[in-house]
Amino acid sequence: MSWHETDVLVVGYGGAGAVAAIAAHDAGAKVAVLEKLESGGGATRLSSGGIFIPGGPEFADYLYSLSLGRMPKDVLDTFVRYNVDLEEYFASIGVAVSHWGGNSQEVSVSYPPLGAPSWPKVHGGKLIRVHATAADEEAIPPEMWEKMTNNERVFHIGRTYGIDLWLQLKACVEARGIPVFYNTRAMELIMEKGVVTGVAAVKDGQEVFCKAKRGVVMTTGGFAGSVRMKETYLTCPFEYLGTNDYCTGDGHFMCQKAGARNWHMNAVCGQVGFKAPEFEQAFQPRAVSEAFVWVDRAGRRYTNETVEKLHNAWRKVSLFDPEGLTEDRAWPRIPVYMVFDETMRRKAPISRDWRANKDYSWSLDNMEEIKRGWIKQGETLEELAKATGMEPKILKTTIADFNRYCREGADAEFGRDPKTMKPIDSGPFYALPLVPALISTQGGPEHDKDARVIGRDGQPIPRLYAAGELSSVIGWLYEAGVGHAESTVFARLAGENAAKEAPR
Ligand SMILES: Cc1cc2nc3c(=O)[nH]c(=O)nc-3n(C[C@H](O)[C@H](O)[C@H](O)COP(=O)(O)OP(=O)(O)OC[C@H]3O[C@@H](n4cnc5c(N)ncnc54)[C@H](O)[C@@H]3O)c2cc1C
Repeated sequence: MSWHETDVLVVGYGGAGAVAAIAAHDAGAKVAVLEKLESGGGATRLSSGGIFIPGGPEFADYLYSLSLGRMPKDVLDTFVRYNVDLEEYFASIGVAVSHWGGNSQEVSVSYPPLGAPSWPKVHGGKLIRVHATAADEEAIPPEMWEKMTNNERVFHIGRTYGIDLWLQLKACVEARGIPVFYNTRAMELIMEKGVVTGVAAVKDGQEVFCKAKRGVVMTTGGFAGSVRMKETYLTCPFEYLGTNDYCTGDGHFMCQKAGARNWHMNAVCGQVGFKAPEFEQAFQPRAVSEAFVWVDRAGRRYTNETVEKLHNAWRKVSLFDPEGLTEDRAWPRIPVYMVFDETMRRKAPISRDWRANKDYSWSLDNMEEIKRGWIKQGETLEELAKATGMEPKILKTTIADFNRYCREGADAEFGRDPKTMKPIDSGPFYALPLVPALISTQGGPEHDKDARVIGRDGQPIPRLYAAGELSSVIGWLYEAGVGHAESTVFARLAGENAAKEAPR
């Protein structure tokens, strides 16, 4: 057993942990960080790295409505007040950023290829990103710099912007000489008469006790890697998409044991993805032609495919039908199928290489994935229905109706824009199964506008702070680019406020 003593102890070394450590250090405190893995970065490192900055305080109203009125307004107001100045804050701690498109409305994502992007629909906002070193950027033609999408960047230098955000934050922590203890898993908060005084952790199988004279900041990320928590809090089964099994909700358990109350444990950000048995992470699908539909397990369309939002596409798929229990159709939309024809099959890969599965290169003509049995195939729609378990009659009617809507120039069922529709009529026919795929969880120990963790009695638990995905302020519907913004804002406040506590 060994002891370590510091002023502010930060638990978890992802983006929020790094910012909390920097903020506490810059406010004059002695700081140490515990990280359970052998290197830091967490989801921050894996992410796309887009950071949204709103144009003004009204963004708080927008977030309030996305939370269905569940989030305390003062917490959102505080978030937005600091969010507006985030670019300047990054500069002040040593992180260089650049703009990603001039206005949030112009920012596009590649998926769904025909649909609306999922970035905030508010006026006057901007999206920023953190760049790599000049050496990395040499691989990118200068004329592409400002306009480059995430996909193009992955193509040119093999990565998105998340890792660069992480590398810059890490460099800022190192420049300040803040010690980081790797392979050190925090297990429990140490309490004395209701006050948090430190953390009990395990390092290389040995117990370690860390005393925090001013406060503890929890930044352990989400719970996407905990099967038990997912089953308990979420309404449908999820695969991973870019998340990882290290997100086991450790911080949630620690805070709960210390008396914290939780908020919005059912709020998540998730897409739909293709899960191959050989890979842990789901692949992100893309429709590369207008000749496609999404159908349920019976073969019925259920949505205007082109307006599904990137970060909330799982929602319609999660429909539960208790009547279906007896025939194994309780989730009639898990999986849903992207149905397409030979023209689209030949055109381009129907999945981009997702970074978590980056060792796998999806074949250009999709033939390898057909051979592997990932993409189901049928010479006719009847055969395709047989191969997938859909009802042949229903699937045939669905496709016949869709093809008619294409000819008539109006989607009578879901109002899909005719410019995004082409008949699915040249066999063979194909179907890619898609299931809910989790990116991040938002629920966790509630915190107030000062990032103080709230106990069951509604009062802050003395000297305990939380930030980041462990305790997100996104209370129901996720918006792109807000994850990093809120992690940074509340990590900053947590670090600064913990540093202000009188030492014990
Ligand atoms: C694929 C993907 C793309 C994304 N794209 C974007 C985007 O473009 N824009 C955006 O705003 N957001 C995006 N996000 C969300 C964003 O990445 C997260 O909101 C943010 O990175 C969370 O940071 P964090 O520090 O809270 O958690 P993390 O970065 O996950 O860090 C948590 C750390 O805590 C450690 N830890 C856990 N338990 C313990 C323990 N018991 N003891 C010690 N250490 C522990 C973990 O190992 C990890 O290192 C994306 C997420 C994913 C997965």
